[in-house]
Amino acid sequence: METDARPRASMDEIVALAKRRGFIFQSSEIYGGIGGFYDYGPLGTILKRNVKDAWWRENVELRDDVVAFDSSIVMHPLVWKASGHVDAFHDRLVDCKICKHRFRFDHLKNAEQCPDCGSKGSLTQPRNFNLMLQTHVGPMEDSASVAYLRPETAQGIFVNFKNVYQSARKRPPFGIAQIGKSFRNEITPGNFTYRLREFEQAELEYFVPDDGNDLATFETWVERRKQWYADYGVKPDRLRFYELSQEERPHYAKAGVDVEYLFPWGWGELESIAHRGTYDLDAHMALSGKDLRFFDEGSKTHYTPLLIESSAGVDRTALTMLIDAYEIDRSVDPNGKDTERLVLRFHPRIAPVQAAVFSLARNKPELVERARSIESALRRRFRTQYDEGNIGQLYRRQDEIGTPCCITVDFDTLEDGTVTVRDRDSMHQERVGAGGLEALLHERFA
Ligand code: ATP
Repeated sequence: METDARPRASMDEIVALAKRRGFIFQSSEIYGGIGGFYDYGPLGTILKRNVKDAWWRENVELRDDVVAFDSSIVMHPLVWKASGHVDAFHDRLVDCKICKHRFRFDHLKNAEQCPDCGSKGSLTQPRNFNLMLQTHVGPMEDSASVAYLRPETAQGIFVNFKNVYQSARKRPPFGIAQIGKSFRNEITPGNFTYRLREFEQAELEYFVPDDGNDLATFETWVERRKQWYADYGVKPDRLRFYELSQEERPHYAKAGVDVEYLFPWGWGELESIAHRGTYDLDAHMALSGKDLRFFDEGSKTHYTPLLIESSAGVDRTALTMLIDAYEIDRSVDPNGKDTERLVLRFHPRIAPVQAAVFSLARNKPELVERARSIESALRRRFRTQYDEGNIGQLYRRQDEIGTPCCITVDFDTLEDGTVTVRDRDSMHQERVGAGGLEALLHERFA
């Protein structure tokens, strides 16, 4: 059987599949939606959770030098003063006086002409727009009660640096990891779940002593993150690690690498890895007046560790997994007929469903019962789903949600205890004893 992959899917096709199969829905859809917010459906929720679990496993559970953290979304407003977000976390926006549309100044190709209505000279002067979402804490809505929904999770880690290293008994080099929601009042949300106003970040703050090994540690983290994307099968020709020049980095950063994926609309950032020096801890020490330096018991000295940060977007990574997995297979079947199928080639650890178990006939209680009992036994170890009906339709549905293995129970199963196992990618089918399924799936997904 010959197969070949079609050119890349458009975003419209991805969005349509995401809705049809229950990955991602527009938030508040029945009221017309709200820009920059999305909901994850039954499969999308598991996809996103799998992305987070994969990140957490690699960066926290498998490391004895990284500890877990979970800070609050609303923090003292001075946190954002110290971090620079109150004064400098803004985009420059311009409005078109004719069509009233609003644009990010840095996204305009031509500042003379409105990109939407084409009017010349209709754009206002750029002005600063702070990206933090505000709220009020307590019953009074005045300036004293203003608080912010965090625009990044990292600051919660910095302000707790001392609490964490003392309670966890850690000394640099060591890291603090957190996955959580962040909020940014983006001027132009868009490209589906790429640019959101509410999103999740997976951040790792790795603190190192200033002993001359910091740049080597930075490189090691870049390599680790490269390996992570490779392990989960992201196509290497669609991934790049862009090294920021000194002009592109903030003045305090000693090194920076942006991880970028080639989305259907072009390259976009998935993650930023940065050597931030002592900037963040220094800023909080200066404003709070509290000493956050590390105290080295051995040498009886205090020092401020350097920081290597890896900050990834969970929604962008989940979207990448979806887009990267999406393929249309064209093949010629054994009868010489052209066939086409849509298949999501998810890595088995990322796939929302790992194995689907089918009963070939809906109205045969012995088959249904046998298939259900196989499915419920496998469910303890794998993400499984039971279904029944027309085998062609069942395969099609599972291919579209990226299930790596389909297991079919038929009349022979009742005679000899064997089932058909069909592989998503090769479409190869084999007959195996039902008793060996757990070992077989374990071997394939390990
Ligand atoms: P961009 O340039 O795309 O606005 P950024 O450089 O401001 O992103 P960072 O502040 O470095 O982003 O945040 C780290 C990561 O958080 C990004 O690489 C991205 O994956 C994710 N992220 C940031 N903003 C958003 C957003 N509005 N929607 C979804 N994910 C986001």
